[in-house]
Amino acid sequence: MSDCIFCKIANGEIPTDLLYEDDEVVAFRDLNPVAPTHVLVVPKRHYVDIADGVPGSTVEAMIRAANLIVEREGIRVSGFRYVMNAGADAGQAVNHLHLHVLGGTRLRNDFGKRE
Ligand code: AMP
Repeated sequence: MSDCIFCKIANGEIPTDLLYEDDEVVAFRDLNPVAPTHVLVVPKRHYVDIADGVPGSTVEAMIRAANLIVEREGIRVSGFRYVMNAGADAGQAVNHLHLHVLGGTRLRNDFGKRE
C-alpha cells in the first residue's frame, strides 16, 4: 500500500529505529507511548487488521517477536499486555495490522469500557 505509514516504516522508506527485524515483521517504539514500554510489532506485508486473512505463520512471527521484546525490555516478570485494535469502535488509527506491547507500569484494567 503506497500511502501506508507502517508499510513505509517496514520497507525502510521512512527511517525508524528498529528494535527487531526478521523476514516477516519489524518492531519499533510507538511515537506516543502510553507506558514506559510501548512497542509496535508490525508485519512487513500489509493486512488491515488481525481478521484480514492473516496467515498463521505471520501471527506466530508477531508473537515470537513480541515475546522477545518483552524479554529484552525486562518486563517478562513484572507483567505486560498485548493489544490489537481493529476498526473504529476499537479506536484503530493506523489501518495496517500491528500489535502493541505494553508494560513497565501498572496498566489500567478496564478492557476499553465504553467511552
Ligand atoms: P492504533 O490505535 O492501534 O491504530 O495504534 C496506532 C499507533 O501507532 C498509535 O499508538 C500511534 O501513536 C502509533 N504511531 C502512528 N504513527 C507512528 C509512527 N510514525 N511511528 C511510531 N508509532 C506511530
